[in-house]
Amino acid sequence: MDESVIDAVRQAVTSDPANVALRTHLTQLLLDAEHLDEAWQHASTALAADPANTELLTLAARAGELTGHTTEADGYRTLLAALSGTNAPADTAPAAPPWHTPTEPASDEAPVELDEPERVPLHAGDVPDSVDDLLDLWDDSDAMPEPVVGEMHRDRVLLRDVGGMEHVKERLHTSFLNPMRNPELQAAFGMSMRGGLLLWGPPGCGKTFIAKAVAGELDANFYAVGLSDVLDMYIGSSERNITAVFETARRNAPCVLFLDEVDALGQKRTHLRGGSGSMRGVVNQLLQEMDGATSDNEGVFVLAATNHPWDIDSALLRPGRLDRSLLVLPPDTAARAAILELHLRSRPTDKIDFLKCARSTEGLSGADLAMVAEQATEYAMNASMKSGNIEPITMRQLGKAIKEVKPSYGPWVESARNYALFNNESGTYDELLAWLKGTKIR
Ligand code: ATP
Repeated sequence: MDESVIDAVRQAVTSDPANVALRTHLTQLLLDAEHLDEAWQHASTALAADPANTELLTLAARAGELTGHTTEADGYRTLLAALSGTNAPADTAPAAPPWHTPTEPASDEAPVELDEPERVPLHAGDVPDSVDDLLDLWDDSDAMPEPVVGEMHRDRVLLRDVGGMEHVKERLHTSFLNPMRNPELQAAFGMSMRGGLLLWGPPGCGKTFIAKAVAGELDANFYAVGLSDVLDMYIGSSERNITAVFETARRNAPCVLFLDEVDALGQKRTHLRGGSGSMRGVVNQLLQEMDGATSDNEGVFVLAATNHPWDIDSALLRPGRLDRSLLVLPPDTAARAAILELHLRSRPTDKIDFLKCARSTEGLSGADLAMVAEQATEYAMNASMKSGNIEPITMRQLGKAIKEVKPSYGPWVESARNYALFNNESGTYDELLAWLKGTKIR
């Protein structure tokens, strides 16, 4: 098999990853050329979209057998046998491209042939000159359904629900919310609201919660997507997932699209097939979608978050992209008191001195404090079960819970210090370094 033929079809699959027929064809070519692992991957991806496709099942069974995925291969054979019993409708088979030699349709009684899939004669001279021409020929294939990634919410969390963090709230109002609400002011001062805002800082300190509150303030849907869920090892699938995410956000506008773990797109991560080359394609796709190059992003507000800003692909941080950033630090004493109060406000409590509790929670993140509230609630519930009455949460129970919950962001402080100290030529980490100087957390 001429590798240039395989390359041409590979490229076409990257351009049109939803095209099941084309991916099936690529699987066959790869099997012929003994690129077995890659054949297995494409067969699995296509099968996820079209599980009753008998041609695919045959190819997948063969690829599975040759790559040691014998359990799956056996499963595909069983399914094929079942489908051959019920005679899968002819139109579930992908359309053959014009250069194929027509194959004989399987007769109703014919047993399913599992050994060798039908060979498709394809020669280098038959391949169209461009990917677009190739795709035109496969145009009427079954398209894979749009992938579903992330979760859409319409919570009514507002910034006033975020405990403390007055400085963060103020900056959100001045640099993001107020201009969003006043497009005429944006225009008058020549401010561009393209691009998005990056929230960064230690884990569990409220980045997601703040993004939710921004959605609440804008009366918008909140669509949270973990970038690691988007990244897929199959060629072209990550790009397709990113497009699907933005399409979903646009369909649900006004919408805050919250891209969590954007550092997963960092150039240092090369776990995608083909390494950083493939990652570049994913970053480019994200940039295109953010730039609204192909569609109108009206009403889509992009917020991104990371614990490791130093790992983010620098292309994402250029003007017009994630060019504004906000450091979300662990809560100070007032914020910790507010967070505890917030988490206990709908529960029965004794008279609680929240400020006193907060003073003994130095080093706990918002997430840690949420755990303290849960733990104290559990104590009160146990006491209630014993007494048969509703026993409110007491200061003692809170104190006990505080002692039990350990600070969770120590390791982050360690790595942030190492990074910020030696990589602050442009002053990017000034605010972080000032905070690190004052913190007792090691
Ligand atoms: P990660 O980096 O691990 O994703 P994060 O910074 O996004 O963490 P959140 O998920 O927003 O942290 O916070 C965890 C939980 O801590 C929230 O669900 C919320 O209950 C609580 N929390 C954090 N900060 C605050 C805050 N300022 N006010 C109220 N609750 C908070």
